[in-house]
Amino acid sequence: MIRSLASLVLASLVTLTGRAQTYDLVIRGGLIIDGSGRPAQRADVAVQDGRIAAIGKITSPGRAEIDAAGHAVAPGFIDVHTHSEDIADLPVAENFLRMGVTTIVTGNCGGSTLNVAEFFATLTRTGVAVNVATLIGHNTVRLKIMGGSFARPPTAAELDQMRKLVDQAMRDGAVGLSTGLIYLPGTFARTDEIVALAKVASSHGGIYASHMRYEDIRIREALDELTTVAREARIPAEVSHLKLSGPTAWGRAEEIIAYLDAARASGLQITHDQYAYTASSTGIGANLIEAEFREGGAKRYRERLADPATKARMVAAMKKSIVEEKRGDYTFAVIANFKPDPRANGLTVPQAAKLFRGSDTLDDQIETILEIEARGGAQGVFHGMSEDDLRKFLAQPFTMVASDAGPRKFGDAVPHPRGYGNNARVLSRYVREQKLIAIEEAVRKMTSLPAQTFQLKNRGELRPGFVADIVIFDPEKVTDPSTFSDPHHYAEGFTDIIVNGTPVIRAGQLTEARPGRPVRLNE
Ligand SMILES: [Zn+2]
Repeated sequence: MIRSLASLVLASLVTLTGRAQTYDLVIRGGLIIDGSGRPAQRADVAVQDGRIAAIGKITSPGRAEIDAAGHAVAPGFIDVHTHSEDIADLPVAENFLRMGVTTIVTGNCGGSTLNVAEFFATLTRTGVAVNVATLIGHNTVRLKIMGGSFARPPTAAELDQMRKLVDQAMRDGAVGLSTGLIYLPGTFARTDEIVALAKVASSHGGIYASHMRYEDIRIREALDELTTVAREARIPAEVSHLKLSGPTAWGRAEEIIAYLDAARASGLQITHDQYAYTASSTGIGANLIEAEFREGGAKRYRERLADPATKARMVAAMKKSIVEEKRGDYTFAVIANFKPDPRANGLTVPQAAKLFRGSDTLDDQIETILEIEARGGAQGVFHGMSEDDLRKFLAQPFTMVASDAGPRKFGDAVPHPRGYGNNARVLSRYVREQKLIAIEEAVRKMTSLPAQTFQLKNRGELRPGFVADIVIFDPEKVTDPSTFSDPHHYAEGFTDIIVNGTPVIRAGQLTEARPGRPVRLNE
């Protein structure tokens, strides 16, 4: 007889076809954290034809078996905020796999592939280890239609063409529309333009995910814009990488949480994602030089820099914001990847100023930033959040865990550690060490909450019939050795990673398998 765990047996040993059998894979004796938030329980998991066939006491054998005693067994993590347009070039995406991520959503912050059908066809052809969903990016669409002329609203005809591009992307399986309203050219869009495009995404049942216009002291204005889009376009809205940036904005987490709760109470579907670090990462120029000076491309930027009057305005604007944000100088900004001169990688802006100019006065720091941008720009890491705000946001039930990273080229430059450690850091630091949230809740934030929010059907839970994306890890050992100064270390503690029923990491070793596939809206 089958001895069942009454509360957990969700299907019997008899498969849907009605006959007992040998399973493709049986995972035995693990602590099942099923992604729903329900309490963990010990059970076996059977996998057949890429799907979860049964959970409970499994007596039938598997063609492959994994002993998961002493380990947690959870749904593969879904990272809804990534920048993985280059995933076909780094198809193993080992940094994601090693921290338990089996599905990524790319196309965030307004930047995506333009041709979603072609993107997915390429991934199918080349093979990838993780599942890939994408948003269609507002900046991508706006750049395509409005070319080099950014600092204006689109004409009616241009807006119509932008709508058509969003519509096509949604038909091809994009999960929604993203904006990056600090970036070119989206920063010049008014709210009505975004509403018009969000309506198209909404008509297909997609989501609106936004890197908001402000994440600093002006965050309320930005949230007003996000909720306006959600209301007028009747679309669920995701605050991307929720944060309070800069010392003047710190300490307002409770106020922002109350705002978001009130928006939900008014009937809007608002969610958020967050990475578990108090530093952000984006372009040095995008973050530190006003958009009006970068508008129109690199050539026009250099022309402005060469004009003494315009340059004086640029410098004045930067000094003003340093004072207003109570930063003192640019010590908070670190150069992560400056291709023309990698000696600068890992240096703070004052250190880079010393290297390049022999002096680290504020004027020399500003010159260094302007010069880096003139030489093609650099990726930066910005230490600008408070741990207290981060913890408060992370504890919220509508906050999911997402890295804001892409596939990492091991050893290349000095990137933000979030691409290697984000999920592991939540499980080690905020679950095991600080006990800020329970492990079941942390896993829910990495699995069912993102799956439901981004409508990735039949993923995000360990449940019979669901896709067999499964991670096995040791909750006592999971850790994130990647640091800001020494980021190139994979997360530790994950022993087995299974994607669509196929192991991509087995007993800690990469397999050659690339079972990942495109994930289309509602598929
Ligand atoms: Zn962003």
